[in-house]
Formats: sequence, C-alpha cells, structure tokens
Amino acid sequence: MASIGIDVGGSKILGIVADSKGRVHKSIKVPTPAIGSRKVLQSIKDIVHALSNHTKPKKIGIGFPGFIEENSKIKNLTNIKGFNNFNLKKNLCFPGTKLAIDNDVNCMALAEKKWGALKDIENGLCITIGTGVGGSLILNGKLFRGSNGFAGEIGHIIVKQDGWKCGCGKKGCLESMINKKAVRKRAIKKGLGNISPQKVEELSEKGNKKAIKVYEETAQYLAIGLDNAIQLFDPEKIVLAGGISNSKVLLKETIKQVKKLSVSGKKVFIQKSPLGKESVALGASIL
Ligand SMILES: [Zn+2]
Repeated sequence: MASIGIDVGGSKILGIVADSKGRVHKSIKVPTPAIGSRKVLQSIKDIVHALSNHTKPKKIGIGFPGFIEENSKIKNLTNIKGFNNFNLKKNLCFPGTKLAIDNDVNCMALAEKKWGALKDIENGLCITIGTGVGGSLILNGKLFRGSNGFAGEIGHIIVKQDGWKCGCGKKGCLESMINKKAVRKRAIKKGLGNISPQKVEELSEKGNKKAIKVYEETAQYLAIGLDNAIQLFDPEKIVLAGGISNSKVLLKETIKQVKKLSVSGKKVFIQKSPLGKESVALGASIL
C-alpha cells in the first residue's frame, strides 16, 4: 500500500505517492505561499487531496524545515514565515490516516539510509542547501536526534565572525553564508546583477569567471562547516541536496577545501544525493 510523502521547502512544496520500495508513482509540486501559515497549510491539504484521488494512502508523512519538537511543534523556523512555535499536527487533520511530521533533513537522511547514498554507511551526514541550510546525522546506522531533537542542524553553526545576518538572529551562520540569498548577494557584488543561483550556475558552467568565483567563495564557507562536522563526528560520507548543491563548481571546490582543512588526512566522501529532489519527500513517506 502506498504512502504520501510531503516536502515543505522555503520555495516549493513537493508531494509524492511512494511505495515501500521507494518508487515514486505520482508527484505534485507547487510554490510555497510567501506569507501566512494558513495558505501553506491549505497547499499541503490540496496536495494530499489531489494525491489521494486514486488510492487512499496508508499514511502521510511531512518533512518540514526548522527544529521540530517531539510533539510536532515547530521552533525557530527561519525560512518560512508564520510557523514559529506552531503545532503542525494540531492544525492538520486527515481523518482515518496516520500523520507523521519530522524535520525535512531528518527525512532526507532516512531515505538516503534506506535507498540512497548512505545505504551501507554507518556514519554519515546529510545537508540541504536552498533557501535555508539543514543537516541531519546518521550515527551507528541510525538517525541521531540529540537530547532535544535538534542534532545535526549545521545551518546555524558560525563559519564567519560578524558575517551576514541569519534569519535566526546570529551573524555568519553557515545558512546565511551559503544559502540562495548568499549566492545572489555574491553575484551582485561581482557585477553579475540580481540573478538566480541557477543562472549563476549556468554561467559558471559556460566558463564565466565571475560566476565561478561566486561558487568558489560559497564553497569556502561550506567547507568550514563540513570540516567542523567532520572533526566532531568522523563521518564516512557527506550527502548534499537542495538547489545550491547542483553547482559542479561548488562540489569540486568544497571537496578540495575540505581536503585542505583535514587534520586526520582521512578522505571523507562528499557527493550529491542520488535521490535528488525527491529525497525529503521519500523519507517523509516512511516516517
Ligand atoms: Zn542562523
């Protein structure tokens, strides 16, 4: 029997119908409403309704950004407005169907462990880089949540003293230095204009030096963040997902910089998620 998995991101909401082998049978994607939790909730309900048209799902899982407490309360969400201290489960009801909610990157890690890059890996780290930056840890083969469910949230470790202001209130967080907004800011500074990170990526692939520099600089901060995580958790593999991770320059430069920073000399494998854009939704389907 199929389940529904939903990935609520800062710029889009993706819903899928997946089976127990991780095969996606149907998917719907809509832009995330810019303001108001009510509109976001309505979009989630509409997606569930549309996906349930053919088969009644066994369960519904939602991957949501931010810190999610055990009672499904969202805390300190920096990239979607209107959800701070919001109890998602209380405000969403699908009669007769089990509903589960978890942090979006925790969902990604569950999917990568079951079907993706961490399948045979005991210790790994998953990171999404988009509107926000999230992280999740697989330690000793299992999702590691920490004491309060916030473990692995690498987006808010500081990688530059007095750096760009982050949505969480601090300055120089990894999120504020490498997210979509940061790539845009660098592109403007380099004279490329206010263009999307995807456009910067396209230009860099065509050999545009300024565009290459934008992603090389972004990689420097990502590498500092990853090095911190490597020193703490000694992972075998780091898996990247989200719009910004599509940049080949970013990946190549990050691998180079992480190697430079390495104290142990041991190679940590860094790769893009093989499950791609559906990794969070797939993980949500098995919550
Ligand atoms: Zn922050």
